[in-house]
Amino acid sequence: MQFETKSPQKISVKESFMRQRRFVNDVSHELRTPLTIICGYIDMLERYGLQDPEIFKEAVSSIKLSARNMQKLVEGLLFLARADQGNQPLMKFPVELDEVLKNFVEAYPSPRLQISKLVPCKILADTEFLNRMFAALIDNALKYSPPDSVVNIEMEVNGKIVTLKFIDQGIGIAKEDCEKIFDRFYRTDKARTKVNAKENSVGLGLSIAKWIAEHHDIKISVQSEPGEGSTFILTCKTCE
Ligand code: ADP
Repeated sequence: MQFETKSPQKISVKESFMRQRRFVNDVSHELRTPLTIICGYIDMLERYGLQDPEIFKEAVSSIKLSARNMQKLVEGLLFLARADQGNQPLMKFPVELDEVLKNFVEAYPSPRLQISKLVPCKILADTEFLNRMFAALIDNALKYSPPDSVVNIEMEVNGKIVTLKFIDQGIGIAKEDCEKIFDRFYRTDKARTKVNAKENSVGLGLSIAKWIAEHHDIKISVQSEPGEGSTFILTCKTCE
């Protein structure tokens, strides 16, 4: 199954209002879960934390995780709020895409990432934003795959067209979900129930990646089969 993101379309006032209402609902819902967990564990700490070191450890690690999730959520929301207001300035320069990718992978804190092919080429881009888009795709590829599997990155250049592929061997994405995963807060049922993914999943990474791609004339597409893995493909033009 393959899906490609499209350019943004104009929306009506009514649709804009509905979206805003849905957005406020989603944010409240997303904040309520970690806050409930934090409050529950603080109660537990107050009652038993000093007597039982196991309870203390469990409470502290759950509070830490929920706080990190909230932090990720708030950072994502701030990015998108600035983006919506046209307040996310890009500083684009010709950059060596292969070098940016290589540096990103070298600095990434997981040995499960590998690059099978790099081709020298330049694109017009803001490196900071490119890295943020790579992070969203790679975090997901690792998060939704078995912990012993590898995520492979492949690069190809044909004339002026560059293609980057992020290939995982993970849970895959159902056909009906492929276009929705780029929507804010959308998570597939499988992702919601997969424990290690649920723990740091807020449903904003791909919306941010999509925004960055659109503002670099990069097309994102997904090929995926449930149970067999996913490939996220970025395509754009070189600048030289
Ligand atoms: P999240 O923080 O939930 O990962 P994203 O916006 O990055 O949010 O992704 C949205 C949803 O798309 C995820 O919750 C998951 O259901 C699905 N998804 C994204 N990348 C992958 C992948 N590589 N494999 C399987 N599912 C994925």
